[in-house]
Amino acid sequence: MNFALDEEHQMLKDLVARFVREQLIPLEADALAREAQGGQLTLLPHDQARLDALSRELGLWGLDAPAEMGGADLPVVAMVGVNEELGKTITPYDLPPDSPNLRMLLKTADADQRARYLEPYARGETISAIAISEPGAGGDPAMMSTRAERDGDDWVLNGRKIWISRAARADWTIVMAVTDKARGARGGISAFLVDRGTPGFKVERRIPMIGGASTYEVVLEDCRIPHSQLLGQEGKGFAPMQARLSSRRVQMAAWCIGRAQRALDMLCEYAPQRQTFGAPLADRQAIQWWVADAATRIHACRLMTYDAAARIDAGDEARTQVSMIKVFATEMAWDVIDHAMQAFGAMGMTKEMPLQQMANETRLMRIYEGPSEVHRWVIARDLLGLRR
Ligand SMILES: Cc1cc2nc3c(=O)[nH]c(=O)nc-3n(C[C@H](O)[C@H](O)[C@H](O)COP(=O)(O)OP(=O)(O)OC[C@H]3O[C@@H](n4cnc5c(N)ncnc54)[C@H](O)[C@@H]3O)c2cc1C
Repeated sequence: MNFALDEEHQMLKDLVARFVREQLIPLEADALAREAQGGQLTLLPHDQARLDALSRELGLWGLDAPAEMGGADLPVVAMVGVNEELGKTITPYDLPPDSPNLRMLLKTADADQRARYLEPYARGETISAIAISEPGAGGDPAMMSTRAERDGDDWVLNGRKIWISRAARADWTIVMAVTDKARGARGGISAFLVDRGTPGFKVERRIPMIGGASTYEVVLEDCRIPHSQLLGQEGKGFAPMQARLSSRRVQMAAWCIGRAQRALDMLCEYAPQRQTFGAPLADRQAIQWWVADAATRIHACRLMTYDAAARIDAGDEARTQVSMIKVFATEMAWDVIDHAMQAFGAMGMTKEMPLQQMANETRLMRIYEGPSEVHRWVIARDLLGLRR
């Protein structure tokens, strides 16, 4: 058993750490100020262009994309290290392509879809979204009611999707829909690729979320698409969708490790300096226990996340382990950031510090990709032999 990253993966992690420290963290103060003045937490176009050029030059694009598409084909374990470092900043910058839809397309796209969608996506040329959730089906996606009906060489989609990230700017969206109501999640749900601007695919409204995030409500009204837009086999969309969700959950766990580590580092730097009642905060047992518990839980979370990643790299679905880290990482980071905010007192409540943004982003993570309670239920259901 080896608990260390391979040398080349450690070097990559160190490179991303430097990129985050030298390029992304210095942009935080301005991004926070713009958001505090009522704007969104976004990068200015010239910063985005500069970071894109630099990260590309550093070889940080397509890290887990297949080699034949110009990617580095890195295992999930290596990506945990990369995402831990990216998780340390609230500057909104992602290294393209976003892994989960890449994973889903790798499992499902046919030759034509690989050329039209997967390859440009792997090169970081397009943005994608996925539309699973509906007003009546979120934590339990098997309840979805959006229908796709075959009509000659076409499919016609009707329904309503909600909480969809990036829907307004995505070049294409994977829309999950029911193709056989009787079979439901067991052979009756399919995935479709819908291009932006397709008649009947309407982004109805932007929904502002906490933490400066946005999601969108999307209506599908007689949205007609050719059969060639069916992604994977008819009725077999649920399993690749679950694999996609697993990929995001591992990524989220890694982000949480990074966020929690940053909050702990800030706490450890501040606590010895701040004097109250004649002693530094670092001398108080309450603060010491926050520090000790945070370090212990971050360490446990890192080991759990690398374990889940190594299992996935070995071909295991690791569903139970992934549910465990989804719950553990998001709740651990929430507590650690909350304690750091508490130790900073009023300063921890300001929009001048990144802690509140880290907390908000972590709070969102306890809901998306499945709420904590649903993951606990999945874990317990397996152990108790109660699987549906
Ligand atoms: C920031 C953000 C981005 C998102 N992006 C997307 C996206 O891009 N695409 C997409 O399709 N969806 C997206 N979602 C939606 C997300 O996946 C759902 O919100 C999530 O699955 C929960 O569904 P729900 O909101 O309908 O809550 P519900 O399913 O109604 O659950 C509400 C609460 O009930 C409790 N609960 C539910 N089931 C159980 C159970 N079995 N046992 C115990 N308690 C339970 C939990 O406390 C849960 O929080 C996003 C959500 C957020 C917040």
